[in-house]
Parts: sequence; structure tokens; C-alpha cells
Amino acid sequence: MSKWYSLHIKNEILLWFFIVAILPLLFISTLYFYNLQSDFEESTKKYLTQVLNEKVESTNNYVESLQYQVETLSMLPKTREYLHEYESAFKENKRNNTPISNPFFEQMLEKSGYYDMFLIDLDGNILYSVKHESDLYENLLNGPLNESGLAWAFKKSKFLLDTEIATFSYYTPSKRKASFISTPIFKEKKLIGVLAIQISEEKLFSMILNYDGLGETGEIVAGYLDKDKNILAAIPLRFKHDAFSNDFVLQANNALQRTVPVANAILGNFGAGTAQDYRNVPIIAAWKYMPSLRWGMVVKMDYAEIMQPVYKRVLINMLILFFVILFITIAIIVVTKHIIDPIEILISRVRNLSQGKNEIVSHEEIDLDNEIGTLAKSFNVMSKSLHDSQEVIRNYATELEQKVESRTQELQMSKNELEEINIKMQKHLGVVDKYVITSATDKDGVITDVSEALCRISGYTKPELIGKKHSILKHPDFDNSVYDNLWKTITTGNNWYGEIKNQKKDGSFYWVDVIVTPTLDKNGTIDGFSSIRQDITDKKRVEELSVTDQLTKIYNRLHLENSFKKEVNRAKRYSTLFSVILLDIDHFKLVNDTYGHDIGDTVLVEMVTILKQNIRITDILGRWGGEEFLIILPETNAPQAKLLAEKLREEIANHFFRVVGEKTCSFGVSEFNLQDEDSKEVVKRADNALYEAKKSGRNRVVVSKE
Ligand code: GH3
Ligand code: MG
Ligand code: MG
Repeated sequence: MSKWYSLHIKNEILLWFFIVAILPLLFISTLYFYNLQSDFEESTKKYLTQVLNEKVESTNNYVESLQYQVETLSMLPKTREYLHEYESAFKENKRNNTPISNPFFEQMLEKSGYYDMFLIDLDGNILYSVKHESDLYENLLNGPLNESGLAWAFKKSKFLLDTEIATFSYYTPSKRKASFISTPIFKEKKLIGVLAIQISEEKLFSMILNYDGLGETGEIVAGYLDKDKNILAAIPLRFKHDAFSNDFVLQANNALQRTVPVANAILGNFGAGTAQDYRNVPIIAAWKYMPSLRWGMVVKMDYAEIMQPVYKRVLINMLILFFVILFITIAIIVVTKHIIDPIEILISRVRNLSQGKNEIVSHEEIDLDNEIGTLAKSFNVMSKSLHDSQEVIRNYATELEQKVESRTQELQMSKNELEEINIKMQKHLGVVDKYVITSATDKDGVITDVSEALCRISGYTKPELIGKKHSILKHPDFDNSVYDNLWKTITTGNNWYGEIKNQKKDGSFYWVDVIVTPTLDKNGTIDGFSSIRQDITDKKRVEELSVTDQLTKIYNRLHLENSFKKEVNRAKRYSTLFSVILLDIDHFKLVNDTYGHDIGDTVLVEMVTILKQNIRITDILGRWGGEEFLIILPETNAPQAKLLAEKLREEIANHFFRVVGEKTCSFGVSEFNLQDEDSKEVVKRADNALYEAKKSGRNRVVVSKE
């Protein structure tokens, strides 16, 4: 199996150590870090919410106590009296009055920590203020302060007849932001004026702005909506103090409201979470709406500061982990070195061994009592035995090489002999092909091969014969029954012997003596035929000469005698019969005497022509003697023979011979008798009948009576 990496075994052990041990360790550390982080986030959120709740509660309490104080003050008879007094004075003197000093209110201010106190008549005129700022004697309904928080609180208290708190806004006479609490003053259940206090920023802020327990980055943010729904910072911020108090404005309705905690608080939500503050620094914050002042308040801390202990712990953990890994790695390196070094020595020995260098492992190299020591000892034993085996194999190899060499020489000699034999064989085969007439056919008689000798004798070329039926060589004169017999014999798996007359390409003939043998395939079924032949044309010619009459070219007496033997045998075997016609030319001597012997010969030849033209193919015509002819008529009785004889007689008698003119013949006819011993009797009878014909006047047919 091939690996996707290739490593030294030491490195491989280290790699697996990392995969098996370090990775889970790293995984657990990471998990630990994230758990710690979310724990810190959660506890910080809780803590900040708690701080926020305290701030909101104390601020609310403070505002409520102020409210309560103002309401109590408004119900004091002294307050009503001063209102009356200052109202009358204001009506008489208008603004020309010098500021009034009132120790009662001044003392109240001192004690309660207000910024300022006001008595206002029902027309909105500020009749009295402790601080005597530019607002004194101003009218809140139509003067320059008609838009101020004080004017807003006055109007609300006057019309709703209840204590009201105006939220923070910039107040010009004090040149700072200010909030006011106003309450109606009644005399016998009748509204006569309004008492108002201006809350001291310093006092309020000192209650809220306490960063104890909020670390380096803890901050308290309070925001409120102005009349254009802009968010304004209500209290000075810990960071970017100036920037926020003047410019830090957020649109309440934009998307920021979800992510900016102070916007969330103003919208009345209460909660805690992670966010980014106005400095774009990640923070954890708690937010809440404070109804008394209509503020949204936020307590927050920088995320980085909160997480500092987490990072510290994780760093410590990582350090511990690093040292553990370092220690384990060193341990592994030491251990693997201890194990691998001897193995490497063994490997190098095995490598040498594979290259044929036998070298044993010495004691100095590996001196171990463990499995590796055993392995080294076993290696030495194996190396030794391998050395011995190699020796044996080398000896065997040498011996084998010698044997192979001598065998190769022998084979080389046999090969030479074989080559010689082959050359001889080729010569012989060439001779055979040249001089022996052979052919091969498939099982349908289609020629597949022919020898050169067959081509020469038949006059065809090889391509002209191969692929043709063997019957291409057949002579039309040759008896079909011989071929039928041949085919029947060889298709039943037997050899056929016989003589066949074949036709050459030029139409002439040749005779062959043939042996046809079926050829068998490996299953023993006939897949074709092969034949070997001998040219017997010359023999056949001699044979023909011996049975042919030289003058007339018909059979001679010898052949007629042989034919008689066959006919007699056949007649006796199958109880058939045959007849004989013997004929003799009348007064032939006269022809010779008159015209000469040569003309006599031409008459004989002409006579034979007439006879040949009028007999059947099965009839055997031959020259019996000088001018006597004999016809054997197979399977013919005497009356039939007589008919033929009559016909011949007539043909001859009607023929006009060259030179000599008319000639006649006399005929003797006889039939073979089964009692006859041989052909002599039947010929004798025909001869007698012929004699009768001559005697009784010639040019006639006489049938033997016997
Ligand atoms: P007949 O009617 O009684 O037979 O009278 P014929 O003259 O034919 O008498 P015959 O048969 O005895 O005579 C045979 C003659 O035929 C004798 C011989 O000269 C002649 N002859 C026989 N062989 C040949 C031959 O080969 N050529 C020629 N030209 N004549 C032959
Ligand atoms: Mg004669
Ligand atoms: Mg005659």
C-alpha cells in the first residue's frame, strides 16, 4: 500500500503522537477558552445589570425625595405668604426692584443642595429666585425663557395642578444644562402660584458618577431625547468628555437603536449584551429606562478589560500545554532513538544483504536484551544461513550453467542435422511435387491443393484449379458409373483404386491410375480427400493398340474374344442373353482383283463407317477376319439381332462406295444359349448361318435355327 506521505519512522511516530495526543489537547483548550469567555460574558452582564439597577434606583429615590420636599414646601403657609408679598411688590415695582433676599429659602437651598429656587405667579412671572440670575422677573409665557425647561414645568404644573419634572436641557441664565421640578401652590384649594426648584447637576452627577467596581474602562452613560428626537448625553462622559457633551447625537429612529445600548434604554428596553460604544470599541453593557428623569441609562465596560483574566488564564494554560508537549516530544525522541537506531542498523544490514554483502551485527552496535536484541541475533543466524545457501546455490548455478552449455551444444548439433534433413526433405518434396500427380479436396470435392505434376499433365495452372470442383478434370467420354462408384466408396471412408480418363485444358485426354483416400480431422470425421495418381496414358495406348485393328480402328479379334468372356460370364451370372451378328462382304476378292488391294482397304474402312453409324453404343463391333466383321449385341435376342442385321444389310446395299460402287454383305445371326459352355458355340452358329446366307444367294440375313 503506498502512502500519501513518506516519512522516516521517527517522524511518523511524532506525527501520530501529534494527531492522537496534541490535537485533542488543543481542542479541549480551545473549548475551555470559549467556555470561560462565555462564562465571563454572562457574569459581567449580570454584574453590570446589578450596578445599573442600583444607580437607577438611587437616582429615582433622589428625584422622588426632591419632589416630596418641593411638595411639602409648597404647602407651608410661609411659602404662600412670600408669594403674596413678592407678587404685590412685583406688581408695584416691576423690574426696578432690587433683588430680594429671603433667608428661609436661602437656608432651604443650602440644606437641600438645590441649585436654585423660584416663586412664580399665575401669569408666569418669576417673582423670586435665590440665585438672582438673569431669569428673575422674566415672564415664562412670553419672555425669552418661554421655551426653557422651567417654562415647560411651570405650564404643566399650572394646568395639570400636579408636580412635574422637566428633563435636562440647556438653561441660558445658568449657562449650563438644567432640570426643574415644579409644583402648584394652593390657598384654600385655589391655585395661586407655582414653586419650582432647579436641580443641582453636581449633586445629581455625584450620585451617579461613581466608577467604583467598574475597573479601568467602566462607564455610565445617560441619554435623553430632545424635542427633535435627538439623543443627547445627560451626564458628562468618562471618556471624550467634551466631544460627547456637545456633539454626540444619535438619531433615535435609525438602525443604530438596536445596537446602541443607550438608544435601547431610551426606547424603554431593559437588558444586557455585547455591543460597540460611541468610540467604536467592543463593550459589554446593561441598559434600562429611568422614568423619573425620562433618561435611558447604560452601565458598560470594555470587552477587552473584561476578557483580560480569560486571556491570562488561557495563556497560562497554553504555557503549561507547551511545556507538556515539549516534555513528551523530548521523551518520544529519546525513546524512538533508543528503539529506531538499532532498527536502522538492522535495516542497513538487510539492505546490504539484499545487495549480496553478508555482514553480521556486532555486540558494540546492538547490545539489547529486548526484542530488538533477539531480532539482531536472529538476523545474524539468518545472514549466516543465507550465506551458506548462497554458496550452495552458486555451486548449483555453476553446474547448471555447464549442463546448459553442453546441452546447447548438443541441441546445436541436432539443429544442424535437422537443417540438413530439412533441406533433403525440401528437395524430396520438390521432386514429389514436380513428378507425383497429387491433389487434395475438401469434403465437397472442391480442390484445395494440387502438385506441379498435376498442373503439367492437365495443362491448368494452380490458381485455375484451386477452388474448382474436381470434376473439371473429368473426360466426357468416361463412364459416369465409375465416378458414382468412386464417390460412394470414399464418402463411406474407404480408399478407392482405379483407372480414370481425364481431359486436359486443351481438350485432349490422359489416363491415370488413382488412389483416392479420405482425410480425417482430429475428431475422426472426413474433412476432405487426397489422391495420388500415376500417368498410365502410354500403357493405355499400348493396350488400345493391342485390341485395335490397325486398318479400320475398330476392335480386333483379340478384343472380341475377351469381350465374349465377359459377356458369357455376365449372361451366366444374371441369366441374361446376348446375340452375335457375323457378316462377310460378298465377292470381295473381285474388288481386290479389279481395283487392287488398296482400294479393297478403303472399302473395308467405308464399310466400318456404315456399321459404326448404325449400331448402339453398347454393341461391340470388331474385325473377325480379313473382310469378316463380328458384332456382339448384349441383352439382345435373335429376332432383335435379325432386325439390326437387316437394317445394316439394307444400309450397305444402298450405299455407293467410292471407286467400286455398290457392295453387299451376307449376315449370320445367332443367340447365346445358356447351355453353351463358352462363346465358341454361338460364333459357330453364326458362322453356319452366314454360310447359309452365302449359299442361298448372298446379300441376306440368316438366323441360326439352333
Ligand atoms: P464370297 O462371296 O464367297 O465371300 O467371295 P469372296 O471373293 O469374298 O471370297 P473369300 O471371302 O473367300 O475371299 C476373301 C478375300 O478377301 C481373299 C483376300 O484376297 C481378300 N482379303 C482378305 N483380307 C484382305 C485385306 O485386308 N485387304 C484386301 N484388299 N483384301 C483382303
Ligand atoms: Mg470371307
Ligand atoms: Mg467374302
